[in-house]
Amino acid sequence: MGHVIALANQKGGVGKTTTTVNLGASLATLGKKVLLIDTDAQGNATSGSGIQKSTIERDVYDVLVNEMPIKEAILPTAHPDMDIVPATIRLAGAELELAPVMARELRLKQAVDKVREEYDYILIDNPPSLGLVTINTFSAADSILIPVQAEYYALEGLGQLMNNMQLVEQHFNPDLEVEGVLLTMVDTRTNLANEVVESVREYFGSEVYQTTIPRNVRLSEAPSHGLPIIDYDNKSRGAEVYLELAKEVLAAHGDK
Ligand code: ADP
Ligand code: MG
Repeated sequence: MGHVIALANQKGGVGKTTTTVNLGASLATLGKKVLLIDTDAQGNATSGSGIQKSTIERDVYDVLVNEMPIKEAILPTAHPDMDIVPATIRLAGAELELAPVMARELRLKQAVDKVREEYDYILIDNPPSLGLVTINTFSAADSILIPVQAEYYALEGLGQLMNNMQLVEQHFNPDLEVEGVLLTMVDTRTNLANEVVESVREYFGSEVYQTTIPRNVRLSEAPSHGLPIIDYDNKSRGAEVYLELAKEVLAAHGDK
């Protein structure tokens, strides 16, 4: 039975999409069967894992709004053993279209439960907001992985994220957990970054991964080639750290 992990932080640019694609590809490299679900209308996880937008016929919008069977929207990515449910700009209308629908919060959960058996890890990339789509991903997930950028305002807004998580726990998903907190774009040469790392560890304690993700230019180049870092430059620091993170995630699940 697959673990379903939603990657969320309502701030943009903190490394949600980079982590979804690269943690996913690293888990697949370590022998796991992985499904990514892109729920951001920007579709960055979709293009970053090698899917050309012009070739997409069915996407997560059809699953959420039209209740199309999720299997019909799954595509193989550039990386072996990693599939994706793509997102396109059509998803931008979903918040409004879902608003009057019954059990609208559980549309994604109902879909994801139908493919859980077929994957070891299902990673859901979230948009930079806390709306109905995010409630759907939190309801569908077993746990939430929170990427936090090591910058001055790192902790700002995380209280709101935790509140949303609690609301979903109360109403839709009592077993929802924090999967882990990941520090991203860490520049250990600066005092500021080190201070932020410390304050995040103070706030979240053992939920923070030992692995931190440094700034690495290869990580920012890989998406424009439609490749996870491990296929773009497997010797890069970025490839190494995402593989380390994948091992930490596996260990947390008693998985090898
Ligand atoms: P989000 O999905 O939270 O909006 P992204 O993963 O898209 O964030 O990252 C924002 C930008 O920062 C992207 O251009 C991405 O390529 C770049 N980026 C993410 N992580 C790193 C990193 N560790 N080093 C360098 N650039 C990064
Ligand atoms: Mg993103």
